Amino acid sequence: MSRFWSPLVHTLKPYVAGEQPVLDDLVKLNTNENPYGPSDRVIAAIRAQATDGLRLYPDPTSSRLRATIAARNGVEANQVFVGNGSDEVLAHTFQALLKHDQVLLFPDITYSFYPVYCGLYGIEYREVPLTAEMRIDITDYRQPCGAIIFPNPNAPTGCPLTRQSIAELAHDHPDQVVVIDEAYVDFGAESAIPLVANFPNLLVIQTFSKSRSLAGLRVGFAIGQRPLIEALERVKDSFNSYPLDRLAQAGAIAAYEDDDWFEETRRRVIGSRDRLTLSLRNLGFEILPSAANFLFVRHPVHGGAVLAGGLRERSVIVRHFPKERIKDYLRISIGTDAQCDRLVDALRALLS
Ligand code: PMP
Repeated sequence: MSRFWSPLVHTLKPYVAGEQPVLDDLVKLNTNENPYGPSDRVIAAIRAQATDGLRLYPDPTSSRLRATIAARNGVEANQVFVGNGSDEVLAHTFQALLKHDQVLLFPDITYSFYPVYCGLYGIEYREVPLTAEMRIDITDYRQPCGAIIFPNPNAPTGCPLTRQSIAELAHDHPDQVVVIDEAYVDFGAESAIPLVANFPNLLVIQTFSKSRSLAGLRVGFAIGQRPLIEALERVKDSFNSYPLDRLAQAGAIAAYEDDDWFEETRRRVIGSRDRLTLSLRNLGFEILPSAANFLFVRHPVHGGAVLAGGLRERSVIVRHFPKERIKDYLRISIGTDAQCDRLVDALRALLS
């Protein structure tokens, strides 16, 4: 605390990011990274930029990347907004589109960055409880509000909604912006991008950090109709926030074009998720149905904090959230089968 701070800073409760430890031989299953890394094609594209391009400024509007994303999603390039990770896209979205006279709605259990942005930008919000099955029920959102945001599949639960449900939600709220954060959509949910043509109030946000395996490069994007994208551009240009650097633009283009690697790694992650689900069930865990690259699980006897601590002592890191409603749960990222086996061995030892 300091008397030099502006009053706003005193009120902020900053986001607590997932830990990024620098230890070797750690089974790191805490921040939903892709265990497989980007393809050779992506590395070659980045290397070519590193060799020839670093002397030059990057394209400030990432025009080739936006054109690549647009072409593959059946929209115009000017309907794509890119940022340094979807966190930056979300930050601009909160500021440009989610502050209104009425409250912003999001689930009580969801991405913990949302309340942080609300604090930063002075946005009033109301948390809508998940159902008893820990699912989003769109009929709970039929209430006066200024805007709506949630991930699909939701995080950290992993539970998906159908595209049809998102269409109903957007239809129910023609005068409100509905933002769908699709960070994990490629692991088993339906993207809402095809709905954008019909709904001027719908913004869909995706990331290169998970299914594209580029968390370290920081690339995310939003797709929507022009007025929503223009709002994001205005905020970005007012910040003069950094364009994507040359390595990020080149790497992201190569990753988005590499269908084979995308399909192969996605298939492997989903296979490992099924395998891990069975192993954890055999240990007595209750597991929410996941359409993401993580599982949200709880043990009927052992609490989440105790298990997370015990795993850490065995060099396996998973995510535990202290929030009351989910304090018994662990969120476990899907690693390689070998990493998942180490997790299961460690849990078996802890439970015995
Ligand atoms: N949305 C959700 C739901 C997430 O879990 C994450 C990752 N923590 C993000 C957005 C942000 O990811 P990135 O900034 O790496 O694109």
